Amino acid sequence: MRTPFIAGNWKMFKTGLEAVTFAEEFKELYKDADVKTAICAPFVYLSLLKKLFAGTNVKVGAQNAFYEDEGAFTGEVSVKMLEDVGVDYCVIGHSERRQYFGETNEAINKKLKRLLAGSITPILCVGENLEQREQEEQYMVVRDQLVGAFAGIAAKDAARIVIAYEPVWAIGTGKTATPEEAEDMCEFIRNAVEALYGEKTADKVVIQYGGSVKPANATEIMNMSNIDGALVGGASLKAKDFMEIIDF
Ligand code: PGA
Repeated sequence: MRTPFIAGNWKMFKTGLEAVTFAEEFKELYKDADVKTAICAPFVYLSLLKKLFAGTNVKVGAQNAFYEDEGAFTGEVSVKMLEDVGVDYCVIGHSERRQYFGETNEAINKKLKRLLAGSITPILCVGENLEQREQEEQYMVVRDQLVGAFAGIAAKDAARIVIAYEPVWAIGTGKTATPEEAEDMCEFIRNAVEALYGEKTADKVVIQYGGSVKPANATEIMNMSNIDGALVGGASLKAKDFMEIIDF
């Protein structure tokens, strides 16, 4: 059985003080449920959040990482550094990184391999944009992203990767994929993992849906058989909304 996993993606939001306020409110509301929970925050607040959530089951994630451990890479943060501050998860290949920072499938693959060599669980984002969906290229696009990301990764490691299906047209737009559309692609993703690694691995892989998930639509999305969780942007910024999603 796959345990549901709901992660918040704060993107480039909140100050330190706002992070503290969120954590205090969220800890009040948070009850241990049979759902894994994480907040993926900007690098500068990861240590702070680790301290704030110490003694709870709320995990902390980064939103990116570089694959070299150290070196002349100005502005980058390595996986080794994230491990050093106790980070539990790391989002890789978010569409905003692919779109605005030129992140390629090749770089994503290297980042995944470095994460898998250590203790941090990767959350790999895949998803098509509006134009690709209108051209009915969504399956081809997602398959290419998966094949590129998983190149050279062994089955036992692949099973550790959380995959987040995030159609770009549904991110921050208020336009959610219907539960059926989300399920359809998550099933496609599970089948693609099966084609690469076999049924046992495909059964283990946790697949999230992301894109305008909110308290009002979380239940029907989470009820889909191939959707094991959610990657939540905007609605994870408010403790009450995020808790309601976890409570789906
Ligand atoms: P959203 O973002 O929930 O604000 O649409 C999701 C994401 O980009 O991870």
